[in-house]
Amino acid sequence: MNTVDYLRISLIDRCNFRCQYCMPEEAELNYILQQERLTDEELVILIKEVFIPVGFTRFRLTGGEPLLRPGVVDLVSKIAALPQTQDLSMTTNGFLLAGMAQQLHDAGLRRVNISLDSLNAETFDAIIGNRGRSQWGKVWDGIQVAYKVGFDPLKLNVVVIPGVNDSEVLELAALTIDKQWHVRFIEFMPIGNDRLFNEQGWISSEQLRTQISNKYGLTTAFVSGNGPADVFKIPDAQGTLGFISQMSECFCDRCNRMRLSADGWLRPCLLNESNQIDLKTALRSGVELDKLRSLVSDLLALKPEINYKARVSGTTGAYNRTMSQIGG
Ligand code: SAM
Ligand code: SF4
Repeated sequence: MNTVDYLRISLIDRCNFRCQYCMPEEAELNYILQQERLTDEELVILIKEVFIPVGFTRFRLTGGEPLLRPGVVDLVSKIAALPQTQDLSMTTNGFLLAGMAQQLHDAGLRRVNISLDSLNAETFDAIIGNRGRSQWGKVWDGIQVAYKVGFDPLKLNVVVIPGVNDSEVLELAALTIDKQWHVRFIEFMPIGNDRLFNEQGWISSEQLRTQISNKYGLTTAFVSGNGPADVFKIPDAQGTLGFISQMSECFCDRCNRMRLSADGWLRPCLLNESNQIDLKTALRSGVELDKLRSLVSDLLALKPEINYKARVSGTTGAYNRTMSQIGG
């Protein structure tokens, strides 16, 4: 059976961007109130006293935009300092990263994934829903600073949307040639913006791989990480190319993760809303840590069945929450 030891933790459901595919401007989002968010103390207790004892050792901080969480550097240092933490990483939109990368690295964060859907400032701003001064340069600076500071591996996440940024696939792939950057193409999922998904459709990893391979050639490769990416590289390139194919392939049987939302719901499967546990309410109402450990253990034992259900129902079911709420 697959070991489930990887927890994606949403630090906050808010974001300073409104990416078309994630939090479209027209969507009404019911943000959680600050008092509903797990505090740093609660989060550290849950990690230390519940998740680590039941076998989780790898943690990714995400959101929403995790760098918007007040005190995030301090929280990183607390999680990194736990002796059982084998891997601590973050997924960020990079907007605030230039000013925080060194502090985050000093606090013990070693790996970072930065979303970069376009190299064209205008396209980028359209994707993130920005009508003011371009934000692209700040994200680009964040990537450069993170690289200099030594985050390794440094991964760039690209969601490819037909008619929006698909014309840039070769250019984005070429970023890996001279720098040890790892570009990961993520298939667009119908979570967050069904309208865009239905209008534009999605492009499979297979199509992207063929396009890139026809231009540069591709060989299989490896990069460290916890994800389900299939990894390749352009011959002699310094970095790699990852393809995350959650639409065209089913990797439920290899799933190694659970997700904790900012308001403390533990979700065993991205595609399945059932069987979630409200850890925050349990913790705040004084449920013993022993009891919480057994709730999570029971959920771990149920996960193969939950995964199986997601597998047979397919990946295009109805989703009630966006990636920013779930902790993508
Ligand atoms: N704000 C951070 C960021 O954008 O990197 C972290 C949170 S974001 C929800 C995490 C990842 O989910 C990003 O790489 C984003 O591109 C991806 N994502 C969000 N909505 C998606 C969708 N509908 N399909 C595929 N990926 C999506
Ligand atoms: Fe914000 Fe990330 Fe969602 Fe974009 S993908 S809106 S940056 S949470």
